[in-house]
Amino acid sequence: MPDDEPHQGRLIVVSNRIPKGDVPAGGLVFAIHEALTGAGGIWIGAADPTDQAEDGLTKIGSGDYERFTFSINHEEHRGYYLGYANSVLWPLFHHRPDLLEFHQGDFDAYVAVNRRVARAIAEIAEPDDLIWVQDYHFLMVAHELRSLGVTNRIGLFLHIPFPNPNDVMALPQVAMMPAWMAAHDVVGLQTRRDVISMVEAMRHDTKTQVLNDGTWIREGRVFSILNFPIGIDAESFAEAARAAPEVELQLAPKAPLLLGVDRLDYSKGLVHRFEAFDAYLDMREQGSPRPTFIQIAPGSREDVEAYRDIREKLERTAGSINGAHADLDWTPIRYIRRHVDREVVAGLLRRADVALVTPLADGMNLVAKEFIAAQDPEDPGVLILSHFAGAAEQMESGALLVNPFDRTSFARAISDAIHMPLEERKERHAILREGVFREDIKWWTDSYLDRLRRAPRSFDSQLRA
Ligand code: ADP
Repeated sequence: MPDDEPHQGRLIVVSNRIPKGDVPAGGLVFAIHEALTGAGGIWIGAADPTDQAEDGLTKIGSGDYERFTFSINHEEHRGYYLGYANSVLWPLFHHRPDLLEFHQGDFDAYVAVNRRVARAIAEIAEPDDLIWVQDYHFLMVAHELRSLGVTNRIGLFLHIPFPNPNDVMALPQVAMMPAWMAAHDVVGLQTRRDVISMVEAMRHDTKTQVLNDGTWIREGRVFSILNFPIGIDAESFAEAARAAPEVELQLAPKAPLLLGVDRLDYSKGLVHRFEAFDAYLDMREQGSPRPTFIQIAPGSREDVEAYRDIREKLERTAGSINGAHADLDWTPIRYIRRHVDREVVAGLLRRADVALVTPLADGMNLVAKEFIAAQDPEDPGVLILSHFAGAAEQMESGALLVNPFDRTSFARAISDAIHMPLEERKERHAILREGVFREDIKWWTDSYLDRLRRAPRSFDSQLRA
């Protein structure tokens, strides 16, 4: 096949999470499932940790495509997953270098797992297969594959933000980053802002140069850095929201319902959100309907200290706000840490009058899009969106954008949302709905894979030289 013929082989996807059952739930997992169902191929993800890790892959399940797990031992799980991925890369890429925790051996575990995954892919990949690496858990896999002589087209999609050039320097392995990135054919990021940050970081590398057509070259390999904002399966989410079971919320008549749905993570800005709601309660006119704010935030990554800290802080904040404002028949904040089923979440997102999606940093934030898909176009609610969410680039014209650090303006936006007339709500929702349905998950997968398939084959002989 000539070098820049679009590729026809299988799709091989690697992601840390892989559904162990047959019906995948959750945005990314569902997107990969869709892409593989259409194209056929192979999905590789992490097995549950065991005492002893082994090379190679284990087949799981069956269906339209093949699923395999790679093995990982308990120590690697601590070093690679909880350590380097979630205590170094996650905080750094979410603009929190103050939360970095370097532990001896964590990077070694990350290297060991990335190498094991690369060896496994190298064994099964046929020359025309397209390899698609997902997220920050596998930043080195492509580079390892190149050093094993693999010349296939390889793409990376980073679901989280890219750090600014100063922050990235806090990464002990910062000098290796350009080589890791240049080993791909297409590096996909969520937003234009992320592309600018990565381009800035690459400019510091003397071996990397930009070409006239906007692609990049490093040691003979040509690669692209582009943004592909991820979408949701809008049709099926809207349907799930319409069909959701009725939940008795026991709200006062006409009480506005505000809703937040997040994983409990310091990047989600939950404390700032609670404090802005507190400020709104302070400025609210006496006698106006008393709002209820339901925040669903089940714990995640609780083996990492920063996650335990945020949980404590949030509980304290909710308690003190309720203490100041609650009445015998009214609890302003209902903070729910229990898991809530996805169909119930969909129903709540339909029912809410205001959604609070106000992270301090977020690659995209799918809840913003799910809220728009879930709402009734005839009487829609209002999206309050942080300008730090990746989703703000696509949704700024219909959402009320806020800076979550600016408590007073945030509180005013809550007031504006609660009091917004129906006509304006409908107008804003229509704009957002059109975008969420057009740039959905299928659009994202197709545009990424189409670009990767057309990537010119680089001069791998020079890389190996
Ligand atoms: P992140 O990937 O950082 O968790 P996103 O908002 O991009 O954040 O995606 C989260 C996905 O998980 C969405 O599909 C959302 O509906 C779902 N989700 C998030 N929090 C919860 C929750 N508390 N309960 C149920 N589903 C949730």
